Amino acid sequence: MSAEPAAALSAALSADNPLSAESPLPYRLPPFADVTLEHCREAILAGMAGQRAELAAITGSAEPPTFENTVVALERSGALLRRAEAVFGNLASSLSTPRLREIERELAPLEAAHADALRLDPVLFARIDAVHEARHAAGLDAEAVRLVERHHLDRVLAGARLDDACRARLSELNRELSELSTQFGQNLQLATEAAAVRVADAAELDGLSGEEVASAARAAADRGLEGYLLPLLLPTGQPVLAKLRDRELRRRVFEASAGRASAGEHDNGPVAARIARVRAERARLLGFATHADLVLADQTAGSTAAVDAMLSSMVGPSTANARAEAEVLAEVAARDGVTDLAAWDWAFYSERVRAERYSVDRAALRPWFELDRVLVDGVFRAAELLYGFRFTARPDLAGYHPDVRVWEVTGPDGAEVGLYLGDFLAREGKRGGAWMSSFVTQSRLLGTRPVVVNNLNVAPAPEGRPTLLTLDEVDTLFHEFGHALHGLSSAVTYPRFAGTAVPRDFVEFPSQVNEMWATWPEVLAHYARHVETGEPLPADVVAAIEAARLWGEGFATLEYLAATLLDQAWHRITPETEIGDPAEFERRALEEAGVASDLVPPRYRTTYFQHVFAGGYAAGYYSYIWSEVLDADTVEWFREHGGLRRENGDVFRERLLAVGGSVDPLEAFRAVRGRDADPGPLLRRRGLAPA
Ligand SMILES: [Zn+2]
Repeated sequence: MSAEPAAALSAALSADNPLSAESPLPYRLPPFADVTLEHCREAILAGMAGQRAELAAITGSAEPPTFENTVVALERSGALLRRAEAVFGNLASSLSTPRLREIERELAPLEAAHADALRLDPVLFARIDAVHEARHAAGLDAEAVRLVERHHLDRVLAGARLDDACRARLSELNRELSELSTQFGQNLQLATEAAAVRVADAAELDGLSGEEVASAARAAADRGLEGYLLPLLLPTGQPVLAKLRDRELRRRVFEASAGRASAGEHDNGPVAARIARVRAERARLLGFATHADLVLADQTAGSTAAVDAMLSSMVGPSTANARAEAEVLAEVAARDGVTDLAAWDWAFYSERVRAERYSVDRAALRPWFELDRVLVDGVFRAAELLYGFRFTARPDLAGYHPDVRVWEVTGPDGAEVGLYLGDFLAREGKRGGAWMSSFVTQSRLLGTRPVVVNNLNVAPAPEGRPTLLTLDEVDTLFHEFGHALHGLSSAVTYPRFAGTAVPRDFVEFPSQVNEMWATWPEVLAHYARHVETGEPLPADVVAAIEAARLWGEGFATLEYLAATLLDQAWHRITPETEIGDPAEFERRALEEAGVASDLVPPRYRTTYFQHVFAGGYAAGYYSYIWSEVLDADTVEWFREHGGLRRENGDVFRERLLAVGGSVDPLEAFRAVRGRDADPGPLLRRRGLAPA
């Protein structure tokens, strides 16, 4: 299992390494001021060696396997590694440097091999299997039973149950898959570069801003070309399509995008088909009918039938809505003499409708959204009213960068809950986007309380000026804080289940729910105050923002569903399925799912569907809308019960946030909602069903 030379893992830890022992700071906040990258590197290497020794002690035990001496022992193991990886992983995202990236490259294969050693050790699996076999007769509580099942399933899905011959075949398939997805990614990158659209004359770029034209000129110059170049982004729809007035150029951009990597030396069609077939073979080896069945065994959806039921309930309404949108667009386009509306016209006329009917100047809203006011009077206040959490600034506690601020979180009775770190500003070395992660996760077994961090990438204000957010950034802050609440509310015994340790199709749900408070009238009125005058955001502006949100949802939902159903089709094949021409397979799949449309192509077509052929979303692209169904239905529940009230917050926190991964997520959902999720509220939210 372990490919790395044993000598690379040294248990030696220098005496002055601050990661060698538990942090003496409150809540075990890492002692950032004293920790260097070399400390992290050394502690991760020593941490892996230490956990291997702990693993050897478990597997070498002469005692018969029990829950305590096997599963609990595993949960306790790796304390040093956990500590060091939490610090290093967060620094890699928020404060990267050339030296850090060098260490990352050095450690990545060692960490992968270490994870395999823990998952695939045959003696360990035999012990876990024995505990699993006897789990209902061992007097274990529900969380303990689930923990056994979790450890067992992790290993079954990784292939621990296979005999030597099948294991050898599995690793061949894994190796082939990793080569194929690398090839898919590289083909896509090269094909996308090659498909960038060349434009000779600036007049053709009519509709783009001066800045965008300059950037197109720069893109051409960078490749030593004359004129202008329009590079392509990943999805089918390209942002320039909303702006370009020249219809012929729109057609060229669209066709370049939709035809990417579908012919010639970078053709991804055969690569995708081969990936799907190898995944099908691997699924069968592991005891599943298809790759989708294998993936769903580990998700809240649970089965392909559940995914189908949810997706098919949306196809009809979103198709009808997209058709209604197309009629509006056709009318507007006819004014330009366009009588045969095509896919490349959609974004352009959609933008015109938005401007004519829903004039909201989103950029002009920023003075109402001052960062600290949004955070303290909006995000924190909603959490206090709902959950009784209080946030006290702790300037005495240092983060890993001067921008990072620390708050102590206490409960309604003043009890210690955890620490919340906020790192909101963009800077060099921080990756793009926004996210939540943990330095310490909660566990009764380990006696730990959560230390969580939110990262955003807000442009820093000029010296002495307040930091202002866009409306999207306000939503993002509420969203990421929803993940933070999931971590902070955690009340489980075993670290494997802490906070956000839930399946991928569930993890976005609590954070999506928390977005509802951003525009909840009582919350909004409190935080959305003009930075200079203190005036509240006018009510008609709020209403206009809400109305504008609905335009285009038919298109957005349908293009997403088409990609999702395409992902499912590729991962429902068996090793015997005759695929034939991949483009034809795609056409048939969309046709059979009822989402084929010349005007609304899938958000990603097979040959550039990176998420599923070179990312982690194979058979899982449905997750986004799955968790949004749960979210919209929960928002409805809050509304039905009077909205922002402690009673509601307590139910949601105790039955759902607190339990993390320790109960079946859909059971936790039912404990709040009183029934299974209903897609109706999502359809209404997206304007796809009557309100
Ligand atoms: Zn999220």
